[in-house]
Amino acid sequence: MNPAGKPGKAGSLMPVEVALARLLEMAEAKPIVERECLPLAQVQGRVLADDLVSTLDLPPWPNSAMDGYALRVSDWTGEPLVVSQKVFAGNAPQPLQPGTCARVFTGAPVPAGADCVEMQENAEVQPDARIRFIEAMTVGQNIRPQGQETTVGELVLPAGTRLGPIEQGLAASLGCAELDVIRKVRVAVLSTGDELIEPGQALGPGQIYNSNRVLLCSWLQRLGCEVIDAGILPDDLATTRLRLGELNDVDLILSTGGVSVGEADFLGIALREEGELTLWKLAIKPGKPLTFGHFRGVPVIGLPGNPASTLVTFALLARPYLLRRQGVQDVEPLKFQVPAGFAWPQAGNRREYLRGRLVNGRAIIYKNQSSGVLRSAAWADGLVEVLEGRTLAEGESVAFIPLSEVLG
Ligand code: AMP
Ligand code: MG
Repeated sequence: MNPAGKPGKAGSLMPVEVALARLLEMAEAKPIVERECLPLAQVQGRVLADDLVSTLDLPPWPNSAMDGYALRVSDWTGEPLVVSQKVFAGNAPQPLQPGTCARVFTGAPVPAGADCVEMQENAEVQPDARIRFIEAMTVGQNIRPQGQETTVGELVLPAGTRLGPIEQGLAASLGCAELDVIRKVRVAVLSTGDELIEPGQALGPGQIYNSNRVLLCSWLQRLGCEVIDAGILPDDLATTRLRLGELNDVDLILSTGGVSVGEADFLGIALREEGELTLWKLAIKPGKPLTFGHFRGVPVIGLPGNPASTLVTFALLARPYLLRRQGVQDVEPLKFQVPAGFAWPQAGNRREYLRGRLVNGRAIIYKNQSSGVLRSAAWADGLVEVLEGRTLAEGESVAFIPLSEVLG
């Protein structure tokens, strides 16, 4: 057995950040480099393959931030000015005639020679149609300068950026109709356990419905992965070998259950025989047993089977691994400190990820934090992180990770 595979004593548990660092290293050793070119509308959730460098100035010309009048500040003596042209967004203006102003609307190019825009609320149309400006004006006011957002040659989005609506909008503003993205990660999802049956079937004695399969398949889809639903693996060595062997063209086999060094740990046996296995005892709760290994060269992550453990270990370990395989640098979810709306008198030897909610800015936690209770996470809108060895009095500060941060 791999030395790291020895069952851990309390105190010899692997800290979450160490496990994460190892997983990320292994992800970097097997980067997915194949790419595809997709229409901009289809890149949501995908990872940018090349730096996106601007080929234009944005905005391409100075334009008005207001509906109003463009003029040269030094032309204003206090006397009303004649309107010499009208410029709408989409028009190409003439240079400004000296001593006049131009009627302009938001987004319209500012005529050459004008150096300020006065908003229409500060201008009065005189009976002779000339414009009287009420207040002194300053050079540059209400003009969005050329290249304010970006200039030609500037790096706008680095390779490895995950693309969502905002990045798509930004790429569109630069005129990109398509983008090169990293191909989807192919992930096979396996549920292990003789007790599992699929929803829709009648429950027999000792059976439970498989909840991890749909949870992971749908989550992986949200993450932009190609999901190979490999169904339920019975607790049987020959079948385990056979079924793992069929998954030879995937980037990752993601399994749940059967990693608790129990007698039914056939996944572990198969990996030891035909690949390699590292069994980690993590200082994480819910969670703790986690497998990383290879089966005939295909990486395998084995998450613990209890639904809340599956959720927490996927969110904090497998998700960052999958993103890093695609070259994403920023893989850790945002977390922030909030006052605890509960007390935590008993320090644990594992880092707890309590399913909680923010109420009036304070974190409260679901009444039952058992690792088998998925309802806790459905109730929650975040994970409350209580560090190992830590106790908390109500009102003390605690870290909160919104579930929305990890679900997409
Ligand atoms: P194991 O890691 O296989 O010992 O499983 C730990 C607990 O999680 C057991 O109570 C299993 O019945 C349960 N479990 C394992 N896999 C699933 C699954 N896919 N859906 C729901 N519960 C599961
Ligand atoms: Mg099992």
